[in-house]
Amino acid sequence: MFTSVSSSVPMRGDRGRIHSVETCGTVDGPGIRFVIFTQGCRLRCLYCHNPDTRDPNQGQEVTVDDLLAEIQTYRSYMTYSGGGVTISGGEPLLQPEFVHELIRRCRAIGIHTALDTSGYPDFERSKPALDDVDLVLLDIKSFNPQIYQTVTHVPIEPTLRVAHYLNDIQKPTWVRFVLVPGLTDGIQNMEQLAAFVAQLTCVEKVEILPFHQMGSYKWRQLGYAYALKDTATPTQSEVQQAVEIFQAHGLTVQ
Ligand code: SF4
Repeated sequence: MFTSVSSSVPMRGDRGRIHSVETCGTVDGPGIRFVIFTQGCRLRCLYCHNPDTRDPNQGQEVTVDDLLAEIQTYRSYMTYSGGGVTISGGEPLLQPEFVHELIRRCRAIGIHTALDTSGYPDFERSKPALDDVDLVLLDIKSFNPQIYQTVTHVPIEPTLRVAHYLNDIQKPTWVRFVLVPGLTDGIQNMEQLAAFVAQLTCVEKVEILPFHQMGSYKWRQLGYAYALKDTATPTQSEVQQAVEIFQAHGLTVQ
């Protein structure tokens, strides 16, 4: 599909390293979306369903020109569905110049852009992408710092810094929270996260994503130890309880 241009880790904005694309995504932003999964992530989320995107040297290197040519062929469904392009991962902001260039080029031809990020970037290098994208999907995996560290193996502070920055620039933001039984579903953890998010006037809504086992086969294939192999999907009433906690703070929840 794309022309492979080199095997080195990209630093230039005109090319980047991706894992794959999804041409008709419906869960990563409004409408039907062309989703680009970038390669590389510094987090080690226990529930990651894309562990094959971790290694920044895997995947394929593509040019922005190649991606734009592919994206253009899906313009009509994006237009009619109110969709656009979502850059996800992996962690897109590991390649901030590439992501910024993609956002800039899409917006120049009238395509809506969304960025799905854990908020664990090289902050200063990532500002132009955060400034120019239309919508940020910010994954906040816990509010309790210890739980956050356990879930992701990195500290929470960079993500909170990004959240505050998005609020400072009033960037339309959807917060995403994965509900994992026995891990992130503590009442106090959710209450504190809801209270924090409710202060951010840039947040349009919160998406509560119930944990599932659909990515577990990838952990087995990669030979990674999967700590959540016995964790159940949350029940409907557990999801509803989480929804009500966020709604009680005046937040729109999906
Ligand atoms: S941030 Fe996303 S891609 Fe990275 S480890 Fe966590 S769930 Fe996986």
